[in-house]
Amino acid sequence: MKTVFRDCKFLIPSADVSEMSTGQSVLVEDDVILAIGAYADLVRAHGPADDWQVVDCAGKLVMPGLVDGHNHLCNTHMNLSRAFGCHWEDITAHMLTTVHDPYGWHTTESLYDISLVSALNDIKHGATTIENSTIMADTAFAAMQRAGCRSILAPQMATSFQLENEQLNWQQTLDMAERCIREYHDPGSLSTVVVHVHDQWDTLEEVMLRGMRLAEKYDTKYVTHFWEFPDSRARADAEFAGEGGAFSHYYDKGLINDRCVFFHGSTLNEGEIDRLAETGASIIHNPEINGTNCGNCAYIPYMLRAGVNVGTGCDYGSLDVMSNIKLSLAVHNIMPREYKGISASQAFHMGTMGSARAYGMQEKIGSLAVGKQADIITFDLTHATQLAPLATSAIAYGPEILLFLFLRNVAGMETAETMVAGRFLRRDGRFLHVDEAEMLEKANHWFEKFLPDLATRRAAGEHYSRIIHQDFIHDDEVDLDALLKA
Ligand SMILES: [Zn+2]
Repeated sequence: MKTVFRDCKFLIPSADVSEMSTGQSVLVEDDVILAIGAYADLVRAHGPADDWQVVDCAGKLVMPGLVDGHNHLCNTHMNLSRAFGCHWEDITAHMLTTVHDPYGWHTTESLYDISLVSALNDIKHGATTIENSTIMADTAFAAMQRAGCRSILAPQMATSFQLENEQLNWQQTLDMAERCIREYHDPGSLSTVVVHVHDQWDTLEEVMLRGMRLAEKYDTKYVTHFWEFPDSRARADAEFAGEGGAFSHYYDKGLINDRCVFFHGSTLNEGEIDRLAETGASIIHNPEINGTNCGNCAYIPYMLRAGVNVGTGCDYGSLDVMSNIKLSLAVHNIMPREYKGISASQAFHMGTMGSARAYGMQEKIGSLAVGKQADIITFDLTHATQLAPLATSAIAYGPEILLFLFLRNVAGMETAETMVAGRFLRRDGRFLHVDEAEMLEKANHWFEKFLPDLATRRAAGEHYSRIIHQDFIHDDEVDLDALLKA
């Protein structure tokens, strides 16, 4: 089965703007890109074209699907818990009321419906691959399967609390992660699984170390939130002051290496970034949520100069990668730091190849090239007044300006086509395999229910989660065996 994206008005195969072209076509066979070139040449080499499926791209921009390096598809309702205020100055209190409670409230039905709608939102704004850090991993996996995207499932492990709907002790949380790897991790398919420690302050070090062994055993990635909040950074540094700070501690323990993908990295300083670059660990930048959460911003221009691989993520299910690419173009110009700004190519690279490389998928996805997976998106330019003045003549005079103009205003626009591994999820601006309105209606039912439920619990002085041990604690301060019975 062959499909041709014919006569693309703009073809942007990668962040290398010298590859940008007009009038070229992309030929797909089954799940891979067979050839890129002039349509007549493709027919000569691979024809006859009689049974080729044709996408007329004379009025379209064609590019690789975006790679969302970090999301929690089940947390979209969590935005509503801000109605009761936030406590970023005290991370433990903040997590209990605005993160653990919304997570613990979920049923399998609500988690499935909300995760599916969040995935559809990400997909229709350009993502074809989504990392999903999640509770109730089996249900989350089913929702991603239904959404049809390439999935990187990250079952959440943490030990300092237990959710009402997923009461796992520290051993069970490791067992759950290993079972998910065995059942769902298949790098040859659309599904991979990574080891995910939620954060360092809320997970026993023994579990982090065993998690790293697990990632090594199955040769997968080890992902964690890494210093999103100033409070957690300050407390972690105080905890390990005798060892030169938390970064040094975790580095010495073997928990910072090329298997690691760290979310945010917002509070890393220059010295730590230099050390990070030497390890080969990746950072996933989530500028939208950093700005609207507690107001910080990773030093991305410095990271890129230092050679750190940086990808782009959403962090919240209602956000999208393209908006985060746009924000990354803007915020680093504003930050009062020595190194300012990133280029359009760098921003685009982060949302495609940067995220792909973070998960070891750079040979497979993240750009359009012969032999790579056919993860392709198109945008219909026919009514795209917001993208003016996209002029094909600029390809010859300065293609970077086209990429800049595109990235500056494409956020919010929906794809015309979305193809994942040769399968169309969207054609002509509509999903082919799901009724989007019906799914949103189901999710809306849960969104309406969530705040009254949460208010009722709060009024009774109760939570949807319970504390098992203190955050920011050394393993030798707790009885690991006793915690198995907690
Ligand atoms: Zn996150």
